[in-house]
Amino acid sequence: MVLTYRYRLKDGNQRDKLKKLAGQVNFVWNFANEIIRENWRRSRKYTSKNDLHALTKGASRELDINSQTIQAVAYECLLRTQKAKKRVRFRTGRKNLGWIPFNGQTAKYCGDYITYHGLKFRLWEHRKLPAGAEIKTGSFAEDSRGRWYLNLTLEVADEIAMLPLAPNLDIGIDPGIKTVLTTSDGEKFERENLTRDFEEKLAKAQRHKKKRLAKAIHAKIKNKRQDWNHKASHSLSKRYNTIYFGDADSSKLAQTRMAKGVLDAGWYQIFVFLQYKSLRRGGIVLKVSEKFSTVTCSACLSRCGPSGLSGLSIREWTCQSCGAVHDRDINSAIYILRSGRGTLREERVSFSPKGSTDYNAISV
Ligand SMILES: [Zn+2]
Repeated sequence: MVLTYRYRLKDGNQRDKLKKLAGQVNFVWNFANEIIRENWRRSRKYTSKNDLHALTKGASRELDINSQTIQAVAYECLLRTQKAKKRVRFRTGRKNLGWIPFNGQTAKYCGDYITYHGLKFRLWEHRKLPAGAEIKTGSFAEDSRGRWYLNLTLEVADEIAMLPLAPNLDIGIDPGIKTVLTTSDGEKFERENLTRDFEEKLAKAQRHKKKRLAKAIHAKIKNKRQDWNHKASHSLSKRYNTIYFGDADSSKLAQTRMAKGVLDAGWYQIFVFLQYKSLRRGGIVLKVSEKFSTVTCSACLSRCGPSGLSGLSIREWTCQSCGAVHDRDINSAIYILRSGRGTLREERVSFSPKGSTDYNAISV
């Protein structure tokens, strides 16, 4: 099983060396980028990995980085171009954060330090690597505050990587705006409004042109959000082995003033966390369309729920067909669960979500 680990570097006196290496990486990136662009212009073909390899061969003698890193950088540039289906940008030290990818064989992990390219980088070893872990790839990466991190992708034996299995239960999850996650068991995961909490401080920092402070605040928001996402996904992946995750309906986003990107990113991260945490517990996470989930009664499937803009403010409603009283988000989560189970079409099935308190009474 592949796991990723991240360590903060004790970078005080290493920053200059890392910066220098990152500069070389940018040079290789731009070189590869130019080859790929030129080749595409001429032949409408992507340069092959082997061609890139051949063209960058020997460059490590000119540049002060090893050949595996050169290959890794050139290949990454090719992958990004292919993925984006357009030209990717050139990397400059001013616009891009430092990034030095490497191949697992070129770095040696020694507990509280790692050696790479004849250099020794000390790190905060907040947790040990799993026993027998083999480093596949890795990178040194800078964040917006100029701190450096070591990222490692590890191959770990399944029996070591696996955590206690999650019980054989399933759950539907409705991602939302105010309540970030609502489950079909009626559980609600609410998060403090981070942006609002820090808004004032941020505005003040920006007004006074305190760039570093503004960056620190942004980083803090990001860390808090990430921390929350870790905790929520941990809690869910531990208790359910099948998770149906509502695939955010864009119409729901269009009704808010918030940028889609921001919201998407939040849910996407939770989804990714859930996926890899579940994997380690023998579980699975599946995306299920949220379409009609808010307007459909999860008990009798009649579409009589609140809809449109005015419906957004309605948190509770009563089904006109069967009389069930619904919390909007929980109803939505149950609909997602049924949709995921594939029991939507079976009419008149008895339905009571496991562990539910409020909804046990409902059966059709
Ligand atoms: Zn109903």
